[in-house]
Amino acid sequence: MRIGIDIGGTKIEAAALDRDGAIRIRRRRATPPRDYAALLAAIKDLLEEVEAKLGGRASVGIAMPGSLSPATGLVKNANSTCLNGRPFDRDLIAALGRPLRFANDANCFALSEASDGAAQDAAVAFGAILGTGVGGGVVVRRQLLTGPNLIAGEWGHSPLPWPGDDERPGPACYCGKRGCLETFLSGPGLSLDHRSATGEEAEPAAIAAKAAAGDPNATRTIARYVDRLARGLATVINLIDPEVIVLGGGLGQIAELYRAVPQRWGAYVFSDRVATKLRPPRWGDSSGVRGAAWLWPEEDGGAL
Ligand SMILES: [Zn+2]
Repeated sequence: MRIGIDIGGTKIEAAALDRDGAIRIRRRRATPPRDYAALLAAIKDLLEEVEAKLGGRASVGIAMPGSLSPATGLVKNANSTCLNGRPFDRDLIAALGRPLRFANDANCFALSEASDGAAQDAAVAFGAILGTGVGGGVVVRRQLLTGPNLIAGEWGHSPLPWPGDDERPGPACYCGKRGCLETFLSGPGLSLDHRSATGEEAEPAAIAAKAAAGDPNATRTIARYVDRLARGLATVINLIDPEVIVLGGGLGQIAELYRAVPQRWGAYVFSDRVATKLRPPRWGDSSGVRGAAWLWPEEDGGAL
């Protein structure tokens, strides 16, 4: 058995997966706001509840917001939690009294889909998050690719490739630069582009729905988005040549992308044909707990 625990801004969720990846037990509780000690205690309680139900111990992986800084060992960039500036991995390992593995949300998404989801047949898979922000993760033979900076797959703050004159210098990004992929490919980026072109205020799902219904303005907005996403993913394909790319986040639900982007990316990939598949995710909102559990890919789940 493997247990994955997903720590979100509003809820903490735990799930126990059996050997085949079926979820056997699932529990959740509210994330204690602004209280680090209470957060650690809540995770411990949740794990004890799941293991009591299981009747034994299992390996535990943690999906966490933000990341552990390799330089300081402290959490950075975690939204809406009290983790920032804390040695969360050391503290939680001490609290739970066992080895743990940690990964951020985007990496858990990629690992979940590559383990037993839409990219399970891929030796190399890229999971792209297109939501409030843009992130990603790379999985090679069911192992997350990590590196000394812990940023493998983080393509959102690379520049939009092959920008047109009307795309330079691009929107300001919170990271301090302009024209990052995130400023074009995130949900707010899509809405901003639509507003700039039409004066209309609309959420991404509404823009996609209007485009699907034939609205000419929305159709042009989605066409610009498709071309930019094709350019962004072409650089990923040129670099790591994945068999499968899976799109997560709210914008990953736009069905048109799976038809239109592969028709466009051939213009940008440095190859006479592109065999990479673009697929919607299999697991959706469960990718946090599932990917966390699969941080222990060992045959026996790393049973303790
Ligand atoms: Zn940026």
